[in-house]
Amino acid sequence: MQQRRVEARDLEKGLVLVFTGEGKGKTTAALGLVLRTLGHGERAAVVQFIKGGWQPGEAKALAHFGEALAWHALGEGFTWETQDRERDRELAQVAWQQSLTYLADGHRKLVVLDEANVALKLGYLDLDQVLEGLDCRPPLTHVALTGRGAPPELLARADLVTEMRAVRHPFREQGVKAQAGIEY
Ligand code: ATP
Ligand code: MG
Repeated sequence: MQQRRVEARDLEKGLVLVFTGEGKGKTTAALGLVLRTLGHGERAAVVQFIKGGWQPGEAKALAHFGEALAWHALGEGFTWETQDRERDRELAQVAWQQSLTYLADGHRKLVVLDEANVALKLGYLDLDQVLEGLDCRPPLTHVALTGRGAPPELLARADLVTEMRAVRHPFREQGVKAQAGIEY
């Protein structure tokens, strides 16, 4: 029994990791994995399914790694406020096609699909297409999906699920603004 457990821990496997929940830290956790991956001399890719009003600090810092990191953000002009759901869906689908290319690329050890959970929830990505895409990975490729409200079917498919729980946040209690280095 003991022997079997030890053997089981020798297993190397590409993981599906999901960071979800209401608390802060989902995207930073996934980008922390990117940093680790790059630090070990491996390649990674990030696809951002939400375009915020600012460029995250990580994108600037990680640009120094050059081709080892591919970074795809949704097309210009995109915001979640837009009423043009059809265009939003089109942009998310373009990002998804790019994601598939990264997922199938055996030279990329880790692919981060940032806010893919939210794109799923809004119906911009279909659950089936995402689950099928995860299955297209080479066996040792990791994929991390972030965002609130990950659907139960995705959680069931994941090897690792962490749900961030909001205990306190300065936006709510103190009216503190989004600060560089903390929020983006
Ligand atoms: P981070 O990018 O800092 O890791 P996140 O990915 O977990 O955060 P999102 O759900 O993507 O958070 O939300 C994006 C923004 O909302 C971030 O600027 C974050 O600080 C803010 N935020 C996250 N959790 C809360 C909360 N509980 N209350 C208010 N704002 C929050
Ligand atoms: Mg996030």
